[in-house]
Amino acid sequence: MRQGKNDEGKRYSPHDELIDSLKRENIIKSKLVEEALRNIKREDFLWKGEPRSVAYFDEPRALGDTGQTISAPHMVAIMLEEAGLRPGLTVLEVGTGSGYNAALIAYIVSRGINVESLEQPLVFSIERDARLVKFAKENLEKAKLGKIVEVVEGDGSLGYPSSSKEMKYDRIIVTAAAPFIPPHLESQLKIGGILLAPVGELPYQTLIKERKIRKGGGGDEKVEFSRERLMGVMFVPLIGEGAYRK
Ligand code: SAM
Repeated sequence: MRQGKNDEGKRYSPHDELIDSLKRENIIKSKLVEEALRNIKREDFLWKGEPRSVAYFDEPRALGDTGQTISAPHMVAIMLEEAGLRPGLTVLEVGTGSGYNAALIAYIVSRGINVESLEQPLVFSIERDARLVKFAKENLEKAKLGKIVEVVEGDGSLGYPSSSKEMKYDRIIVTAAAPFIPPHLESQLKIGGILLAPVGELPYQTLIKERKIRKGGGGDEKVEFSRERLMGVMFVPLIGEGAYRK
C-alpha cells in the first residue's frame, strides 16, 4: 500500500490520512475510537479480490455478491462515538457483515481487560446471511478477537437470544435500516443503556439514539425511552420478523 510523508516529514499511510481527516472533521472525537480505528485494519475485512488500496476510501464497499456492504468509515466512527462505548460494556450488534464494526467495538470494550478471565464474550453480533457469518468469524479470528466477539447466525430483529426479555446489553447497535425500532431490542437493553438504529423508509433513514430510563419509584416505576434524531443516513434493510419482511 502507498506510503508517503506529510508536510512535517512524518511517514503516513492512506489509513493514517483517513483517520487524521476524520479527526479534523470532528467525526472522531475520543481517544478510544481513534485508537480502535488505528489498530483495526479495514483492509483485513474487505471481500476477497477487492484491492487493498480501496480500504481507506471513505465509502461503503460491497461484500462480494451478497448484496451487503461494509459501511463507510465516517458512518462507523459516528456510530461508535454516539454509542459512548467504554471498557467492560456488553454490546449487541445487529448486522455483522464483514465483522469490521464488531472488531472495533470489541477493541474498545476489552481495553485493559484480561481476555482470558472473561466468562462470556463482551460483544454478540448477529447476522442473517450464513456466508457473512463464516466470513466475519474468519476475519475476527485472524484479528485475534474471537474470544471477545461471538458471531451468531439469526434474525437480529428479534434480539439475541431470540425473543428473550432479559435486559442483557449496555449498548445495542443496529447496522441495517429498520422501519421502526424492533421492540425485542428495546426489551433487551439495560436501564441506562443506549440503542442506535437507522430508522425509516428505504433508501433514506434517520439515525436514532434511544436511552432506556427508569422513571418514578416507590412501586410506581416505569421504563421510558428518550429519543434523539441524530442525522440522515442510508443503510441496507434489516430483513426479519421484527423489521422489513423482504
Ligand atoms: N456492520 C457491518 C460491517 O462492519 O461490515 C456492516 C453491516 S451491513 C451495512 C448490514 C448487515 O445487516 C448485512 O450484512 C445484512 O445481511 C445484515 N442484516 C439484515 N437484516 C438482518 C437481520 N434481521 N438480522 C441480522 N442481520 C441482518
